[in-house]
Amino acid sequence: MAVNGAISETYASVLARNPGETEFHQAVNEVFESLDRVLEKHPRYVDASILERICEPERQIIFRVPWVDDRGRVQINRGFRVQFNSALGPYKGGLRFHPSVLLGTVKFLGFEQIFKNALTGLPIGGGKGGSDFDPKGKSDAEIMRFCQSFMTELHRHIGEYTDVPAGDIGVGGREIGYLFGQYKRITNSYESGVLTGKGITWGGSLVRTEATGYGAVFFTQHMLESRGLAFDGLDVLVSGSGNVATYAIEKIHALGGRVVGASDSGGSVYDPAGIDVALLQDVKEVRRARIDAYAAERDGATYLPGLPVWEIAREHNVQVALPSATQNELDESHAKLLIDAGVVAVAEGANMPTTPGATRLLREAGVLFAPGKAANAGGVATSALEMQQNASRDSWGADYTEARLAEIMQGIHERCAETADEYGVPGDYVLGANIAGFTRVADAMLALGVI
Ligand code: NDP
Repeated sequence: MAVNGAISETYASVLARNPGETEFHQAVNEVFESLDRVLEKHPRYVDASILERICEPERQIIFRVPWVDDRGRVQINRGFRVQFNSALGPYKGGLRFHPSVLLGTVKFLGFEQIFKNALTGLPIGGGKGGSDFDPKGKSDAEIMRFCQSFMTELHRHIGEYTDVPAGDIGVGGREIGYLFGQYKRITNSYESGVLTGKGITWGGSLVRTEATGYGAVFFTQHMLESRGLAFDGLDVLVSGSGNVATYAIEKIHALGGRVVGASDSGGSVYDPAGIDVALLQDVKEVRRARIDAYAAERDGATYLPGLPVWEIAREHNVQVALPSATQNELDESHAKLLIDAGVVAVAEGANMPTTPGATRLLREAGVLFAPGKAANAGGVATSALEMQQNASRDSWGADYTEARLAEIMQGIHERCAETADEYGVPGDYVLGANIAGFTRVADAMLALGVI
């Protein structure tokens, strides 16, 4: 079959077989748009129906999560785990707890995860999970009861050689602790390698917490270097104020850049002196308050209620942007603002934060653009390093682990850049990432036969 026919027929079948899952459709389309060149060069992928197979999860688990709130009422949530592709290793990918989570959300994230994990060069397959549970406003005891109920079902589907979940939106160190505690209790074994993002004293890895944000900044640094630039002296916008955003800001400041804006789902803060990371962490992580509290306590900072952080680009020139909150948060109008404000690089700290229209505008304007599957792969890569430490019952120092992370991000950057060169689109990180990730998984799938 002709390559374009194979791509469009498979995409039509994905739409028909997965109705209403718009984010999943978007993620598949984004990868497929990059594949015509590679399928023309290697028709064996078409002959072996790799496209159809890669879009069909190996297993999808949906379960009821009953729990009792502090007032004694029974609450019901829905739990998901999509085990998408294990050609390269055990399924690996985070759990998201957010009221917006549907099966299609988990499938989009799981699909992205396959190629991201392949790009790291490490032996990990792709999966993702989560629940429509909203951790906001819940007490610690409610979070614990929910996590225990969630793991009571999930435990039978995971294992260090099967499927290794981690955190994502709404799932940080506290939640991983409760989940791991329940897994340990049910299985009566201290199987550290079953979850990553654990605390340092009970099997976690140094630098895992910081890894996604740091890794996104390392990747951006390499992109900037390709144009003879560096973070030193540049002004930056970072959306979000969670795990990824916080450590991205910290590393940008360490490299001499200045982050003048951050946000949460309620609004944004403009801080021309540069975001104070310690205050941000105190507000968001310790007090679990909203970002307006940051603006109220910080001299010279302004709160922009209900506005995305990109609005700051109307008044303030910025050279770099790291969307690090959630999917489809940077649209075409925001892309125009950033281009007019002089942005030279955009790196996706979050998964699919840039809409297809915004991505097109940025790329057409010659902005260096790093897709999430490359830019935010440092988190899962360091999770794989945590698995290595667990398997060898060892724990590495912070400097060594960060050096490994930096080396992995450099490797991902090289893989994307070299693949883009090989396919005649130099500097196109979207094509480079999609093709490099796809070919690694597809070759393994071919080798393993029709399974
Ligand atoms: P957190 O829960 O720690 O933080 C998420 C941040 O994004 C919060 O500031 C949150 O604001 C904001 N946010 C969430 N939903 C929305 C929304 N609908 N509109 C505006 N802001 C929103 O999550 P992470 O930092 O871990 O994850 C952020 C992104 O990075 C996600 O796309 C995730 O998939 C991706 N990612 C995370 C990795 C990790 O290691 N943690 C690894 C790779 C990718 P509020 O507090 O108001 O909810």
